[in-house]
Amino acid sequence: MVRSSIHTHTSFCDGSGSVEDFCRAAFEKGFVSLGFSAHAPAAKKTGMTTGWHLPEEKLEEYLDTVRAAKRRWAGTLDVYLGLEVDYISGIMGPADKDYREMGLDYIIGSVHYIVPPKALPFTVDGPPDELEAGLKGFGGDREGLVNAYWDAVEEMTRLGGFDVLGHPDLIKKNNAGERIFSPSAAFYQKRLWDIAALAGHSGLAAEINTGGMNRQKTPDPYPSLPLLRLFLENNVPMTINSDAHRPEDLDGHYPDAVRALVNAGYTEAVVFVGSKNGKAQWKNEPLARFS
Ligand SMILES: [Zn+2]
Ligand SMILES: [Zn+2]
Repeated sequence: MVRSSIHTHTSFCDGSGSVEDFCRAAFEKGFVSLGFSAHAPAAKKTGMTTGWHLPEEKLEEYLDTVRAAKRRWAGTLDVYLGLEVDYISGIMGPADKDYREMGLDYIIGSVHYIVPPKALPFTVDGPPDELEAGLKGFGGDREGLVNAYWDAVEEMTRLGGFDVLGHPDLIKKNNAGERIFSPSAAFYQKRLWDIAALAGHSGLAAEINTGGMNRQKTPDPYPSLPLLRLFLENNVPMTINSDAHRPEDLDGHYPDAVRALVNAGYTEAVVFVGSKNGKAQWKNEPLARFS
């Protein structure tokens, strides 16, 4: 059986459990590889302090700790050093130069924030009332808010500098009861079509992310089935990630991710096997090997 996740958060950012706790849990669960992807520090670039990004002053310690784990587990578990970098339109993103100098194995590019026309950035990943408050920055225009999210994902993808497209349709997180948008609306379908085509051209891998399920926030993985089908049409390789914030969630809801991939028509998923000359390397594995 193949098990791997390169999207994890330890107590360095907003997860619980140390790097070593995650390595041990991954080993016990039979993982072939494990990647660490702390939320990249954002305070300096954004002027905002949050409870979930890696504090600036902890960055070096994080990098050193994961590198030490790589050495300690060599031969038993492949450990990779990464970051999940926010794309915040006009403010920060994975294409910023500083990440190139950190010697990372990979970067997950993720949009959590959207920037309203005349208000401060806010996150679509928080509680529903935060999204409602953010809606005011769009004058109550729900479609405008959703478009701003997809604009950001497209901008990030065009600018590049990352290896994995993180939780591609995170905007659905607070959409229970279609309170923000209808996934069948023509404008929304067009956004899915566009991002899938763009991702296909970019040569990126995208993740199927069970983090929303692990935290009881969504009934299915990111991305939803229609986007998965479009990714397949555009030959976007998919990698399975748990976005675990606790060691016990490292393989949480993987059968659901495999089922979703099968339903979309995928027969394989890709597993990260390191980077060569700054380019992520992937191994194709038949989906049957994940169950
Ligand atoms: Zn994220
Ligand atoms: Zn994450």
